Amino acid sequence: MLVHSLAFRLKDPLPNDAKFLMEDFRLAVNNAIRFGVQTGATSRNALSKLAYKDFRKEHPNMYAQHLVSAFEVAGSILKNHRRRLRKGLPAQVPFVRRLFMKVENQAYRLDRGNGILDLPIRAGCRIKLTLVMSEYHRKYLDNESYSLGSLTLLPDRVVVTIRKHAPKPYAPVSVLSLDTNERSLDGVLAKEDMIVAVVRAEFPDVSIIQSVHHERRRKLQKKKSHDRRTARKLCAREGVREHHRVDYRMHEVANAVLSFAEERRSMIVLEDLGEIRPQMCKRMNRRISMWPRRKLHQIIEYKAAWQGIPVMKVDPRYSSRKCPVCGRIQDSRKGTEFVCGCGWHMDRHINASINLLQTAASEKAAGGLWFSPGAFQHDVVMVLCGPGKAVRPEPNGTSGMRAMT
Ligand SMILES: [Zn+2]
Repeated sequence: MLVHSLAFRLKDPLPNDAKFLMEDFRLAVNNAIRFGVQTGATSRNALSKLAYKDFRKEHPNMYAQHLVSAFEVAGSILKNHRRRLRKGLPAQVPFVRRLFMKVENQAYRLDRGNGILDLPIRAGCRIKLTLVMSEYHRKYLDNESYSLGSLTLLPDRVVVTIRKHAPKPYAPVSVLSLDTNERSLDGVLAKEDMIVAVVRAEFPDVSIIQSVHHERRRKLQKKKSHDRRTARKLCAREGVREHHRVDYRMHEVANAVLSFAEERRSMIVLEDLGEIRPQMCKRMNRRISMWPRRKLHQIIEYKAAWQGIPVMKVDPRYSSRKCPVCGRIQDSRKGTEFVCGCGWHMDRHINASINLLQTAASEKAAGGLWFSPGAFQHDVVMVLCGPGKAVRPEPNGTSGMRAMT
């Protein structure tokens, strides 16, 4: 089952009844968390078995389904908390501050035609909210094969999850192998035994956006050093902006890659990023953790599953240091060009993607596709997603920085 979430704005401000309900919900979640920490229970069932009766007394008016959903939210928060403790990471007893409420799909009704949401609050009392619908929302709501999942109510918006059965991926006739780099996805398209194209999807603006926002946060912190509360608030806002901007770019890159693959009935090969190894240098750590390579993979995999495009993850070991022709493994990975003693030379990133392709082919899941790097000449790089195409005009002048890089 695949899940997609749709966010809606509300046509009218939230009625007070709904606000009180959300406050009750938050209270119930926090109570359940405290209870779970005391007793060691984490699952929704364990929590509700232990605590339902007491909670019912404390919240006599709350709709029972909402209470069960509060247990579920508490359960997932507790699970994360346990995981942190297990890993020895610093962890305080979790506490929900944000006002929100999760509603299971049995507990609400949404008219998919006119966007009117019907939400029970307590016995005999329901509220009706009107969701603002756009073309984008229509695309999902008008499709009868999608069903509605859980709903999250927030003070200014409503998030509805849409579910559908995963389509069966098509049988690929070509392979698109991509090496993920800091500023681009670089790769090759292979068909039968030949590499037929070199492709590149660039996103140099992502690292620019990140460094701009990092610099801004640093300045804010300095400027507001006398007022930590304000500093935290402003930095959080910067973080949200950065997140939106980077996300927007990542989605564009993923869409470009996926439509390219779909047109050619390709299987997409990506490197398996595995666990992040701890880095020694703090500065490098920041860069690595910031850089949304994993996020990009997640977006590609998720969209591919939704569209029925096959994706294969392969072990990237030695992919940047191996010669795909003679198999020799080099010690260093310096420079932009990979040069081997056997005469093979290739752009370093493209070389890595050829190695990924070979790994995929050797694992046979690629449908018996094989190729020889010798049979490959590349003169033209196909740019799937260029930097110029998608840059939105932003009021903060990143263009000045772009000229520098
Ligand atoms: Zn070689």
